[in-house]
Amino acid sequence: MSDSDTNRVFLLAERPTGRPDEDTFDLAEREIPEPGPGEALVRTLYLSVDPGMRGRMRAGESYAEPWGVGDPLQARAVGEVVESNGAGFEPGDVVAGRFQWADYTTVRGADLTAVDPDVAPISTYVGVLGAPGLTAYFGVQDVTEPKAGETFVVTGAAGAVGSVAGQIAKLDGARVVGFAGSDEKVEFLEEDLGFDAGINYKTTDDYGAALDEAAPGGVDAYFDNVGGEITDAVFPRLNVDARVGVCGQIALYNATEVPTGPRKLTTLIETRATVEGFLVYDYSQRFEEATRKLGEWVQSGDLQYRETVTEGLENAPDAFLGLFDGENIGKQLVKVGDRRA
Ligand code: NAP
Repeated sequence: MSDSDTNRVFLLAERPTGRPDEDTFDLAEREIPEPGPGEALVRTLYLSVDPGMRGRMRAGESYAEPWGVGDPLQARAVGEVVESNGAGFEPGDVVAGRFQWADYTTVRGADLTAVDPDVAPISTYVGVLGAPGLTAYFGVQDVTEPKAGETFVVTGAAGAVGSVAGQIAKLDGARVVGFAGSDEKVEFLEEDLGFDAGINYKTTDDYGAALDEAAPGGVDAYFDNVGGEITDAVFPRLNVDARVGVCGQIALYNATEVPTGPRKLTTLIETRATVEGFLVYDYSQRFEEATRKLGEWVQSGDLQYRETVTEGLENAPDAFLGLFDGENIGKQLVKVGDRRA
């Protein structure tokens, strides 16, 4: 954490080709900004790093504006208000919003939400009670809609979104199978989160055979965070009227060419399955309802969560790059500072 009067800010140094690396990031020193009318100056406490940030490093169209080369990187974050210029918050208030990868950011008060530390630790407002939790909530309740007795499969199952999605499907009464990248993660799914089965895709050569064993009755609901070959194995195992929610495709985010075939779409004719891509921000009108429900589940113990916390803003690039190696269990966060108020 920086106690100096300067503001450390990460900039996009260059657009990566393929996998980003340390050359993608540039740590600059800037003056602490002054909040304009209606803005607050916030000091970052917890910064989120997300796979979706890879899309914003690309020049082309995506669902969010690309970052410009030389511009500050942005992230969902939790921070403490230092100064308010009519932003509707007081110094010392803990708030969540979109900040820069920086010690300090100015944010419009209208774009900040209050964080209630009585519901859960403040870090959860960028994790289980933030965008990842909301993505899981709507992807399960509105897109894949598992019913009691059905089989629900989730990829990236031990990550921020996947770990919550699988637990919500369990609360809905489904049989839940998760794909994850280590034995430790599979144990976390089965022992801590109550999944019915976990598959370590890094030690399994034949994803189809592993699925036949873990989900012998086929797949009714598929929550896809990963894409690629695991999805190729799931499609032929979809049941009639199955629902597929395409949440993320991390296996393809660093690809320089989109891989071709084999195509598994005939399954969709036979099963009349529905495939739906979705974006959490399309549900923003219902964020309050969903955050309240997630908070209740966390407080009742029905929803468990894990966080992997990297210390220090200067290590944010490593934390981000680690997502592509599966270094995180649950939500990957960067701790930038402690509360002072
Ligand atoms: P996360 O799952 O916490 O972290 C990413 C995980 O992906 C890693 O821990 C790693 O776990 C796995 N992974 C990395 N490369 C992989 C590969 N080549 N094949 C298979 N698994 C791989 O991240 P998250 O924030 O929860 O996001 C999960 C997905 O949801 C991402 O694709 C993200 O873009 C998407 N998302 C979508 C929305 C939306 O609105 N649609 C919102 C938020 C997130 P392993 O050890 O298991 O490999």
